[in-house]
Amino acid sequence: MSFRAIRILSLLILLAAAAGMTYWEGMVVRNWLRPLEVTIYPVNGDGTAEVDEYIAGLKQEHFQEIGSFIASQYERYRGKALPPVNIRLAREIKTLPPMPPDGRPSALSAIRWSLGLRYYTYKHTPFWGSLGTVRLFVVYHRGEDGKALQHSLGLHKGLVGVVHAFAQARQNAQNNVVITHELFHALGASDKYDAANQPLYPEGFGERGDGPHYPQRTAEIMAGRIAIAPDEARIPVGLEACVVGYKTAWEINW
Ligand SMILES: [Zn+2]
Repeated sequence: MSFRAIRILSLLILLAAAAGMTYWEGMVVRNWLRPLEVTIYPVNGDGTAEVDEYIAGLKQEHFQEIGSFIASQYERYRGKALPPVNIRLAREIKTLPPMPPDGRPSALSAIRWSLGLRYYTYKHTPFWGSLGTVRLFVVYHRGEDGKALQHSLGLHKGLVGVVHAFAQARQNAQNNVVITHELFHALGASDKYDAANQPLYPEGFGERGDGPHYPQRTAEIMAGRIAIAPDEARIPVGLEACVVGYKTAWEINW
């Protein structure tokens, strides 16, 4: 065999091993028999001292309501208690994750981004220590009022996600909604809103009922907003105003 053939073959074996491992990891995490392990890695999104200060003040406790939310929603569907959800806050990562291509990316640029994110994950998080763990990179921004942050993104099969959040204490509760949304993507859930950010009926509605009724009081976590009117939706104040809808529950194997 030529050197080139050996190189290609070993690359293929490596890719197959990585794919097999990702598949196995996903299966183990999504069967909900073991505690769900989540590690949050904060990243300074705009390099300012303000954001640094906010990150330095972050505490693991700030994220624990994500675990309580998942536990209570699981119980609603399964009628029994969930194994514990362990949410750990890791040290700040000083490098930004690769930014996804703008607009409608070509297949190639999407693959390049996904490989880039895998490489970033490999470089900045422990390999063995992260097995079976969902890793979320939370990129904090100072943010301007009324200006939306970049949409958060996850790898569908990689148990990895990038979340954009506001570096403000008064935004902590809403940040937890965005983090939970992204965590659910990593667990296999799909978005449930349309091109105008309106929750889709029925799967994106907090209260399903017979036909869509307005205003809704809760947001389905993968719709991300509370449907107030057919053309109006509001961002929930926190996880206490969110539920896991039947379709999301099915997608994440509840
Ligand atoms: Zn989403």
